[in-house]
Amino acid sequence: MIKKKYLLVFPPEAVEEPVTYHLIHDYRLVINILKASVTPGKKGRLTIEVRGKEDNLAKAMAYLASMNVAVKPVVEGIRWREDRCVHCTACVPGCPGQCFVVDRKTMRISFIQERCIGCRHCLSVCAYGAIELVEENNAA
Ligand code: SF4
Ligand code: SF4
Repeated sequence: MIKKKYLLVFPPEAVEEPVTYHLIHDYRLVINILKASVTPGKKGRLTIEVRGKEDNLAKAMAYLASMNVAVKPVVEGIRWREDRCVHCTACVPGCPGQCFVVDRKTMRISFIQERCIGCRHCLSVCAYGAIELVEENNAA
């Protein structure tokens, strides 16, 4: 079982097709719609979280391609906002990637993005809004 996030971009001719229905019923995927912007006759955009078997997901991708639906992977990441950080160090002990590092001389925090495993633990720890979840895709 795998879990992924995608942005689907529908051409106008596919906007009114029951694409989500087919993903669920034909490919046995669990679909969680996170964001939708769909207007009949115009380009539509749907951000979804998908769970299912890898082979079913591959078949679903082929189906989407046959419908001319563009599929863009959504990549999540943690962003540290240095401008908001008060260097309280509350985020340091619970981070399994040891991404937040304290300079023992200045007692200031720095963030090492490359160590992050995306567990999201830190999001609920920082009371100053200095840690954000960001999503990126290659949507046109
Ligand atoms: S918990 Fe927030 S404010 Fe405190 S050090 Fe970490 S990022 Fe900075
Ligand atoms: S998401 Fe997890 S690994 Fe990444 S910085 Fe936050 S606590 Fe550390």
